[in-house]
Amino acid sequence: MDILHVAFECAPIAKVGGLGDVLGALPKFLNRRGVNSAVFMPRFGDAHVDPASLTLVHEGRLRYRGRVLHYRLWQQAAHVLGFPVYLWEEPVHFERPGIYQDPATGRDFPDQGDRFFVFQQGLLTILKAQVLKPDLLHLHDHHAALIPVWLREDPAYQDWATLPLVLTVHNAEHQGRYDWSIWKEIGVPVARPEDLQHHGQLNALKAGMLWADAVTTVSPGYARELQERDDMAAGLREVFQRVAFKMRGILNGIDPEVWNPATDPLLFAPYTAETLEGKQQNKQALCRALGLDPTQPLVIFIGRLMREKGIDLLVRGLERFLPRHPDVSVVVLGTGLPEYHAALETLKQRLENFDAVHRLVLRFEFNNTLAHQLYAAADILLMPSRVEPCGLNQLYAMTYGTVPVVHAVGGLRDTVMPWNPHTQTGTGFRFESFTPKAMLQALQQALLTYRQPKLWQQLQRNGMQQDWSWDRSAQEYIALYQSLIPVTSK
Ligand code: ADP
Repeated sequence: MDILHVAFECAPIAKVGGLGDVLGALPKFLNRRGVNSAVFMPRFGDAHVDPASLTLVHEGRLRYRGRVLHYRLWQQAAHVLGFPVYLWEEPVHFERPGIYQDPATGRDFPDQGDRFFVFQQGLLTILKAQVLKPDLLHLHDHHAALIPVWLREDPAYQDWATLPLVLTVHNAEHQGRYDWSIWKEIGVPVARPEDLQHHGQLNALKAGMLWADAVTTVSPGYARELQERDDMAAGLREVFQRVAFKMRGILNGIDPEVWNPATDPLLFAPYTAETLEGKQQNKQALCRALGLDPTQPLVIFIGRLMREKGIDLLVRGLERFLPRHPDVSVVVLGTGLPEYHAALETLKQRLENFDAVHRLVLRFEFNNTLAHQLYAAADILLMPSRVEPCGLNQLYAMTYGTVPVVHAVGGLRDTVMPWNPHTQTGTGFRFESFTPKAMLQALQQALLTYRQPKLWQQLQRNGMQQDWSWDRSAQEYIALYQSLIPVTSK
């Protein structure tokens, strides 16, 4: 069985968030279970690839909106990441640095829609040229969600009309909404145009869900929320209900070859659940580098500075929390909306009055090394997400003995089990209501436990002993693929 994943990110080649982590790991674990898996993605101008590992497999031309575009398809050798990656190079839309946003402005590329459309057309052209012959396409997010419509509706692709199609929704907030006129220009006529539309606009995610053979999302909890809660489904709840018969939640995993405190080359010192003093060395080294006191509790936030990550709650909560807890330090690592950068800067300035300014470190950058070092050094990871499809940060945190304090939504509810001091079970702290008060109560509970070292170590070990490896989830995907692929091609 040959599976081709179609996605905009794949770590470490190009990563903005969890989507990149998933594509960097899942195909490797599928291959290990005997399911040939490869990734098809754009070759961005700043992609982390070694040109020496690439082979040119095909080149050709594509007509798009009245223009002829030249493309090349490169294959990164399978030994580099554990699976082959096909990088689609097309200079007009992809030679520049940046995945979704222009790094110079921090804003979405003005031709973002064209980038997604042309990428999908690129894949279709490659299929038609018979360069790649998958038994199933696994499409990720709205960036690839129009492919099912073209394959099923355009007579030009009738040879692929029965190719099984799986769409994974990594985040329902991002839907790919465009003026309807674009579909008239680049699309194909369909019997029920309203299935492609939401509020009169072309909606790529909705279309993908309706046309794909199966829909998955990245945790069972989020799958339920999408069908039950308007605020989670970002307007598409009815569509999620409509596809419920072919939809399931499969929890993301983590790649222990990248995320393991015993072997992580980015750490100051390795450690395990049995040698937690090594974690202390990481804390000392990192606190020294950041000018913080290593003998005091260290709370971190890592993630995209976006509304869905609850940055407004983070700011409001920290404003109350830091002055009241003169011994706690907080590090925020993230990039995102300029208004959130500004809100955090303003918070820091306000803290001057409380002598707390030096205990809040802000790093507005994407820094993978620092992220690894923070997971290793910190005591508590704060994750006040408003919406969280799966969340990987809390899984990394637990693996590194850092205790998560999370808003109980989506994958966070599925993966962080509340600490019970009586039975000494559980892996973290959850808060139910999305308010500063609830968040601070959970943080205070965590700090109280932190001050009881024996209990805290037990809590850390509980988290470190969980198995979040991709193996289990890969098996669930394989069962899904098998249910869709005709027996003759398995
Ligand atoms: P999402 O996919 O919604 O962004 P996840 O929790 O699933 O959230 O995944 C986030 C991933 O991105 C994690 O690997 C996290 O460590 C990483 N990450 C996010 N922001 C940064 C940053 N500024 N620097 C380094 N890594 C980051």
